[in-house]
Amino acid sequence: MADIRFDGKVAIVTGAGAGIGRMYAMELAARGAKVVVNDLGGARDGSGASTSAADQVVEEIKAAGGEAAANYDNVATMEGGANIVQTAVDNFGKVDILINNAGILRDRSFLKMTEEEWDLVIAVHLKGAFCVTQPAVKLMKENGYGRVIFTSSTSGLYGNFGQCNYGAAKMGVVGIMNTLKLELAKYDIKINTIAPTAYSRMTEDIIDEKMGAKLRPQFNSPMVLYLCSEENQTTGQIFAMGAGWYARTAIVSGDGACIGDAERDITPEEIRDNWDKIGDLANDKPHDSGTSIFSYMMPLLS
Ligand code: NAD
Repeated sequence: MADIRFDGKVAIVTGAGAGIGRMYAMELAARGAKVVVNDLGGARDGSGASTSAADQVVEEIKAAGGEAAANYDNVATMEGGANIVQTAVDNFGKVDILINNAGILRDRSFLKMTEEEWDLVIAVHLKGAFCVTQPAVKLMKENGYGRVIFTSSTSGLYGNFGQCNYGAAKMGVVGIMNTLKLELAKYDIKINTIAPTAYSRMTEDIIDEKMGAKLRPQFNSPMVLYLCSEENQTTGQIFAMGAGWYARTAIVSGDGACIGDAERDITPEEIRDNWDKIGDLANDKPHDSGTSIFSYMMPLLS
């Protein structure tokens, strides 16, 4: 089989000035893509800004013989999103690939979290995904081709102490994907979500250095590059990964229990008495859309 290449393709990677995003940008460029390296260049908590992070990655890509352009806009504003996409159009004429990767942290236990900490994290991860993706997919739709990645986290999918703002935003991007995959299904636009793991600025104080050496940011790139390739036909799925482990993860439903006859009232006691059946995930299934949940109710509805 031929190598996976991106010749002639234009990619935007947000937050590509460091960590995991930097590796996507470098590896896409090494395989022929023209890359917009977006990075606000602020601190881990979202404060400050600088052009140096994006500039440095652009220089590295160019030094290795690739093509790249820098953008320093904030993903969390509509203007920023539009400028990021415009940078791709101005420099390379179109957008084929968008990797929503930019991120910050403002960790605090739920009871102590401030409105500012909540708003800022939701703005960068969740609103940022909207602000950049909307103008990008408009162009992809016109061109009849696109690959989009949203970045979730196991903190959102499963939970993590002190990260209710981050977790909510990271589950939120799954919600955007679930809708967008349906709205863009008839175009060749594939949209997937990843939950990466890497030793980076974001995790250097929570992962110990020895384990961190094995959680290299570049181990997330092969999955993301495959999902962004023309070959990939998968859409609307979530993949978790780290250190060379890759797996699909999903929101699933069990068979559940049909109680009553959709006419008589149902009591809390009947919920209690069917508790094991209601909670049983032995025959769990993911769903392509919210409406497929009706299939479970069919014995009652038909
Ligand atoms: P990182 O801090 O090394 O890199 C994030 C980059 O995003 C930084 O260069 C930063 O300047 C940039 N950025 C932040 N806010 C921005 C904004 N408003 N506009 C533009 N750029 C902005 O972090 P990382 O570990 O490489 O994380 C990358 C993504 O992966 C993030 O979305 C993060 O939440 C997610 N993630 C990381 C891990 C992990 O283990 N590192 C786990 C789960 C999810």
